[in-house]
Amino acid sequence: MEIFTQTRGGDNTPHFTLKESILSPKASFGGLYTLNSLPTIPSLQALLHLNYSELTQHIFSLLHIESQELSVALESYKSFDNPLNPAPTHKIAPNLYLQELFHGPSRAFKDMALQPLGQLFSLFAGEQKYLLLTATSGDTGPATLESFKNIDNIQVVCLYPAKGTSDVQRLQMSTQDAPNLKVIPLIGDFDDAQHTLKSLLNDEEFLQTLRERGVQTSVANSVNFGRIAFQIIYHIWGYLSLVRSGEITLGESVEFAIPSGNFGNALGAFYAKLMGVPISKIIIASNPNNILSDFIQSGIYDISHRHLLPSYSPAMDILKSSNIERVLFTLFGANRTKELMANLDAHKRYTLTSEELEVLQEHFMAGYCTDKECLQTIRELAKDNIIIDPHTANAYFIAQKLSTQKTLICSTAEWSKFSPTIAYAINGEKYSDKKALEWIAQNYHLSIPSSICALFEKEERVCSPISPQEVRGKILEWVK
Ligand SMILES: *Cc1c(COP(=O)(O)O)cnc(C)c1O
Repeated sequence: MEIFTQTRGGDNTPHFTLKESILSPKASFGGLYTLNSLPTIPSLQALLHLNYSELTQHIFSLLHIESQELSVALESYKSFDNPLNPAPTHKIAPNLYLQELFHGPSRAFKDMALQPLGQLFSLFAGEQKYLLLTATSGDTGPATLESFKNIDNIQVVCLYPAKGTSDVQRLQMSTQDAPNLKVIPLIGDFDDAQHTLKSLLNDEEFLQTLRERGVQTSVANSVNFGRIAFQIIYHIWGYLSLVRSGEITLGESVEFAIPSGNFGNALGAFYAKLMGVPISKIIIASNPNNILSDFIQSGIYDISHRHLLPSYSPAMDILKSSNIERVLFTLFGANRTKELMANLDAHKRYTLTSEELEVLQEHFMAGYCTDKECLQTIRELAKDNIIIDPHTANAYFIAQKLSTQKTLICSTAEWSKFSPTIAYAINGEKYSDKKALEWIAQNYHLSIPSSICALFEKEERVCSPISPQEVRGKILEWVK
């Protein structure tokens, strides 16, 4: 069904299919594809007995994005610790729950969507060969590579800043050995990597050369609607899990707290809320790059005088949070979204009216967590033997401050992915990744996941870091 539309309005073809929006996610006027409207879930009660795959199928069919390919794609959750419950929920304090979204192969929440999306993308692509380009600061890259490895019709190029990732994140990329993956360490920081990616995607001659070789170019970044679709499901699952375990009654409202960067995770929760899941407020947590919390508190989105601050939660280090655009579309429509986005492009800022801000705040609350508060939160919880990663710590801290009722916190990465920061928070020592993993495992009786242990035994297979100017040639040399 053709149920997608474009956030900034568009040309004569107003509607698109899921397949189109996944394979080529760029819409008119620099906008994004998004759902025309969101249906209401007819009965939450009826969802209670569904397993994770059935729930996904059910919600996708309500959204009219069901497809034959979906059941194959959903088998990818077999790579999770417990395929029957890929996103388990735990109680950590009275009225406070954690939903762990990190039980997939790369140990961070990106797997929740990227694992099934790899299969879906490949099936939709069919005979057509695709080159996916991605630039990462550390979590998207590993999850994308895990998802697409050994898939015949898709090749993936992954750029990462040579000195901008943790050891674990780097090894998760540099030790990949599937023939369809090309991992390139770049001289520079994440901005340089992202800039290089953007200029390649806009380089008509480069794209044409690839087309002549029978290869289309695309992206699987967090604006790809395929990712958003899967990110609606675990929020619903989290709510249902609280009902099933007797922590809440069906229909009782809860708050969700979400550590946010590009707003993909939070957008999934917003859609779940609009579909009728009783989420009273979505609490958005920022780190010192507090553009999102400022926006939700003031209605002003302003990057004109900001620069990116490196933090302990790098996956949330962001200025331009892409998926906010889909929230604007849903609340205020295409014309207004186009206008606001044009302001952002021209003046690096836009301002909601006070009525619009009120509407936004019906759904969202927000706050930000400083680096110091982040470390303190990790240390405090460790006293109760609860080890959380810095991203989750931001959300925990803000939830403590803002929540007014039972709250489900999205835990977006396993401790094993950010162990040096966690060890530093607890005992003030700066360890290497390996030492930090061992220290935490020993002191808190945790086991290091085998996939993480194995990284330190594998051979790194990447070239030495290259400059942004060399990337184009490197890719064309590789894609035959
Ligand atoms: C990507 C990521 C986030 C931010 O999620 P968004 O969907 O971009 O808001 C938070 N925490 C971790 C660990 C991540 O990898």
